[in-house]
Amino acid sequence: MSIYEEVEIEDLDYDPIKQIYTYPCPCGDKFSISLEALWDGEDIATCPSCTLRIEIIYDEEDLPPLPDDDDDDESEKNEEKKKGIEDDIAGNIDEGLAGVIKKSLIVK
Ligand SMILES: [Zn+2]
Repeated sequence: MSIYEEVEIEDLDYDPIKQIYTYPCPCGDKFSISLEALWDGEDIATCPSCTLRIEIIYDEEDLPPLPDDDDDDESEKNEEKKKGIEDDIAGNIDEGLAGVIKKSLIVK
C-alpha cells in the first residue's frame, strides 16, 4: 500500500449532501472518503479507478458533525376503539328464540 500524497482536509472538496470528501486523482477520477469513515478514524481515501491512495491530515474537531439518523416518529398513534356490537346481536337472537318458543307453545 503506497500513499500517493498527504492532503490536508481543508484541501479536499466536501459534498455536504453525500457527506463525502473528494480530491482529484492524477488518473482523472477522484479519491473519496466518507465523513462517517473519517469519524471512525479512517484517514486513507481511495480512488475507484486506480490503486492510488491519499492520507488525509485532519483533527476530529475539524470535522463537521455527523447528522443524526433518528427517524423516530412517535407522533402517529392509532387509537381505535371497538364497540360491543356483538353483544347487541346476541341479545336480538335470544329475543327471536323466545318468540319462536312462545309460538310453538300456542300451536300445541
Ligand atoms: Zn485514480
